[in-house]
Amino acid sequence: STVPPAYTRVMLKISGEALMGDQGFGLHPPTVQRVAAEVKRVHDLGVEICMVIGGGNIFRGLSGSAQGMERTTADYMGMLATVMNALAMQSALEELDIHTRVISAITMNEVAEPYIRRRAVRHLEKKRVCIFAAGTGNPYFTTDTAATLRANEMACQAIFKGTKVDGVYDKDPVKHDDAVRYDYVSYDEVLAKHLNVMDASAIALARDNHLPIIVFSLDEPGGFQGILAGEGTYTLVK
Ligand code: UDP
Repeated sequence: STVPPAYTRVMLKISGEALMGDQGFGLHPPTVQRVAAEVKRVHDLGVEICMVIGGGNIFRGLSGSAQGMERTTADYMGMLATVMNALAMQSALEELDIHTRVISAITMNEVAEPYIRRRAVRHLEKKRVCIFAAGTGNPYFTTDTAATLRANEMACQAIFKGTKVDGVYDKDPVKHDDAVRYDYVSYDEVLAKHLNVMDASAIALARDNHLPIIVFSLDEPGGFQGILAGEGTYTLVK
């Protein structure tokens, strides 16, 4: 079956670019507010929500290192970029009266809580949205891997990967009119066909722990909540 069961705890992964609007860089507050409103709809269902936000709208390690910066330094800059995005999301969610915690993999106690697994689980039980920042805390990883790692640690039932399109296609649907969307695709097929879902380490980590990934459009108003209510189009990676 491709229909997800009634999930009670989920991980929402979005890229940093999902927060930049049409600007091409940085944070676009109305877009952050729109994404926060989508999260609120799911929170209103009583679902416990973890979030990981990328940093690509501000800085990516690879782009920095491509310009001669030492890779690990560039990656730390990328991780710091995710903290800024997490704080922006926290602020937007709190405007909607949702309690949140930003939990950072790199300690910066003045800004965010340190990551302590049991403490984070407790926050979720109290219906606080946990925004996991600074990726895994390690260079050479991505926020896709961080989302999969934290989803496993928090015992999430699925990762929701919010993108610009409503699922995984056999080729880029923006460039090809005849691109076909998968309702379901296996982890191994994603890896073998290099389908654009998440990077290979994240897919492997999800596969090895039987964590389903639901790829859906975050641009569809009410889409996130709709899927949790058993509606809408998406691709299930399982
Ligand atoms: N990053 C890292 N380790 C992690 C997560 C992220 O080094 O565990 C760095 C890496 O340089 C990456 C950047 O942070 O390019 C931003 O994350 P990502 O590229 O995953 O952001 P997204 O593409 O989702 O916006």
